[in-house]
Amino acid sequence: MYAKVIVDIAHSRVDRIFEYSCPDSLAAGSRVKVPFGGRTVDGFVIGVSRASSYPAEKLRPVSAVFDEAPAILPECLELTELISRRYRVPQAAALRLFLPSEMRQGKVHEAYKKFAVFVTDEIKLPASAKKQSAALGYLKEVGECELAPLCEKFGRGAINSLSDKGAVEIQARKITRNPFGGLSGGGEKKTLTPAQLSALESIESSDKQIHLIHGVTGSGKTEIYLNVIDGQLRRGKTAIFLVPEISLTPQMLSQLRSRFGGAAAILHSGLSAGERFDEWWRLRSGEAKIAVGARSAVFAPLENIGAIIIDEEHDSSYISESAPRYSTFEIAEMRARYNGAKLVLGSATPSVETYVRAKDGELGLITLTERINGNPMPEIIISDMRKEVRRGNNTGFSLALREELDKTLSDGNQAIIYLNRRGYSRTVLCRDCGYVAKCENCDVTLTYHSEDNCLKCHYCGAKYRMLTACPDCGGRHVLYNGTGTQRVVADLKSLFPSARILRMDNDTVSGKDGHYKILKKFAERQADILVGTQMIAKGHDFPSVTLVGILDADMSLHFSDYRSGERTFQLITQVAGRSGRAGDKGKVVLQTYSPENYILRYAASYDYNGFFDNEIALRKATGFPPYSLICRVMVTSEDGDAALQTLKSVFFAVEDLRKAAPGEFIFLNKMHSPIKKIQGKIRYQVLMRLQSKAMLEKIYDIAVANSSGDCLVYVEENPVNLS
Ligand code: ADP
Ligand code: ZN
Repeated sequence: MYAKVIVDIAHSRVDRIFEYSCPDSLAAGSRVKVPFGGRTVDGFVIGVSRASSYPAEKLRPVSAVFDEAPAILPECLELTELISRRYRVPQAAALRLFLPSEMRQGKVHEAYKKFAVFVTDEIKLPASAKKQSAALGYLKEVGECELAPLCEKFGRGAINSLSDKGAVEIQARKITRNPFGGLSGGGEKKTLTPAQLSALESIESSDKQIHLIHGVTGSGKTEIYLNVIDGQLRRGKTAIFLVPEISLTPQMLSQLRSRFGGAAAILHSGLSAGERFDEWWRLRSGEAKIAVGARSAVFAPLENIGAIIIDEEHDSSYISESAPRYSTFEIAEMRARYNGAKLVLGSATPSVETYVRAKDGELGLITLTERINGNPMPEIIISDMRKEVRRGNNTGFSLALREELDKTLSDGNQAIIYLNRRGYSRTVLCRDCGYVAKCENCDVTLTYHSEDNCLKCHYCGAKYRMLTACPDCGGRHVLYNGTGTQRVVADLKSLFPSARILRMDNDTVSGKDGHYKILKKFAERQADILVGTQMIAKGHDFPSVTLVGILDADMSLHFSDYRSGERTFQLITQVAGRSGRAGDKGKVVLQTYSPENYILRYAASYDYNGFFDNEIALRKATGFPPYSLICRVMVTSEDGDAALQTLKSVFFAVEDLRKAAPGEFIFLNKMHSPIKKIQGKIRYQVLMRLQSKAMLEKIYDIAVANSSGDCLVYVEENPVNLS
């Protein structure tokens, strides 16, 4: 037999099939070691055949086979090819997506634990061997126990001697590491409401493959997902359940565990290498049937998939920002198609791109307008921060927010204070009138760059002088940065000295269940106020939270991104959704410097359709996605000259494309990337806005042709971040 092997080196030069002779038992999908040049490297068998295109004596044999069963499933081998072609990455890079990374490097294996088992006490022990006889006596009583604590108690020497004499047998047993083993609860099966039932029915009976559940926060979407999964499991199928944030995974897993027991496995980067390995094999072996995790779980080693769920589908974490730059939806669609599975997307605030597809009838659209318990959506109060400044209130809290906080605390309820600070904002905002600096060509917010003390547009590269005063009102309170969480906590402490405050941001969260610990503490009411950033925005269900304060609703409105409006609407809706989920009516105070902004108005009245109609009209008029495709070809190198040469060569090649098809290009230019240098690498870009995907393949061709050892060239489609 002959094996077609892709070597595990992600480089275009070796991105082809190498052939080796192999044992008859070897199956496609196996991981192997093969001789390659003068050394031995890891490889993936992507096919086996009886015949080879080379004379047999020329082929070297496979050196070793890794696992008992092929690690890569036939479906995933097919996907590898699609991914490699779609995103122009070497097949090895695509194959790696299907394996936990530690496994590839051979660093982890099954975990074994050693046990000592009693065999006999009919041996001769000298009277001086007190420890040996004590250990043997103990073991006779218990029959067997773990080796490590036994050695600790009686000494390793004593146990070894007993083992040498045959009185005790040492056995290594495979154990499965069980992440979040202590989690359970919240997954009891509920009687579905009529709205949930009809949603479930339309998913199951419709001939559409993809469905979007657009349901307000607290409308019971999770219960629908669980029932979809349940239905597929009953048919003997498997399921993938994707969630956007690690912080959400434990909660979701806990529900899945109590509902589906060991059938649910978790895959995410916060696990230890060993845990990930074990969970992965539980799925691969068929023991576990539901893969739960962040975007990479879309590559779970499951066969016979019946359903793929993508919760909070609008979340930007579903787009990979490092190579391979895949879209989770595209992969999920490929897998759904291959398996004939249902793909269910859910959100209270669907992305504009997805919603258009649903409205056009391409996806099934399910709308849930009511919260489960019939509770009204929390009331959103808009606080005009310009007035607060004029009133002389220079704290970060409006009068309204302070009053509501006071009331909440004295009622014995909990509050969440949310900072809309993603990294930090470098937007120029006038605190007196709310003016925001925007690009004259693109109508997107400008970003401040301290290196050259200027303002830049990330969509066309235009530069503007930095402002010292507001051009609209002449005010001098021009602001760049939002406030940090630490500062907010300190301010809250002085305003409400007796309140117990918890902070959650990247600084306070560590370890795989760091998020979970803080959230658990808050859920157990060990604190009155939770202060945090994006991390606390979504998914959590805290029944006693009746107030949410959004300190700087504007900050995301002014990100220099065509999606800022959409992001802001989504964030406000998500955060507001944390308030008043159980009995008491919730309130939300939204602080802003632009209270008349239409995005905030729609968000405050929960008018998704109003927001959508407005947004889609705007996108159409300005020619932004989904009515165009933003495409960036990045050119990076440590060598500035090489980068510049490559940039020119890429640009001229794209120019030629434009000359041949001028209608396809709305915008095209080359420039420094907004951040000119990262980790010693100079960054240039060819930025374009395209009418459609028609030119995309050719642009990838250009990128691949210009990429070299010292200059990396890659394509980004509708990048989440243009810095
Ligand atoms: P969403 O995901 O739409 O925000 P959830 O699925 O979190 O909403 O549901 C909100 C709350 O309603 C949760 O506490 C959930 O346990 C509860 N819930 C959902 N469905 C039902 C039901 N059919 N009967 C009773 N409670 C339900
Ligand atoms: Zn511009």
